[in-house]
Amino acid sequence: MKCPFCQQSETKVVDSRLLKEGQSVRRRRKCESCEKRFTTYETIEISMPNIVKLDGRREPYKPEKIYSGIEKACQKRPVSTEQVERVVENIEKCILDISSKEVSTNDIGKLAMMYLRNLDPVAYIRFASVYRKFQDVEEFVNDLQHDEETFNTTMRE
Ligand SMILES: [Zn+2]
Repeated sequence: MKCPFCQQSETKVVDSRLLKEGQSVRRRRKCESCEKRFTTYETIEISMPNIVKLDGRREPYKPEKIYSGIEKACQKRPVSTEQVERVVENIEKCILDISSKEVSTNDIGKLAMMYLRNLDPVAYIRFASVYRKFQDVEEFVNDLQHDEETFNTTMRE
């Protein structure tokens, strides 16, 4: 994407947002050369990457899958539908910012945990415990100890 100010071709995506049922994407870009910012509306045959699953199979990106995972983790927690939607939006935004042809379920899991961690400690732990079944045991134990600390701190506040 060329910079409209100095015509330099190296521009960086600083923010992406999917518009209206994924028909187009609004991107904030910054020129690496003159540092000016500009917005583009890109109506591409939407470039959501394929999702690479743990067994190596690929499938099209399905936001409803992410949504249901997050929603399940937030069950009976003081988290609104809007907040769940916002988490999915944020994950989507990150996937678009990566602007790669493929994203792994692993990456999506990590993004989901990052946002859930700020949203609700219980939902975070629920999601993490399902997600981490696939990770190695040592990592699981390390992170679990770390989670406990985070959890306690949050509850005291
Ligand atoms: Zn420029």
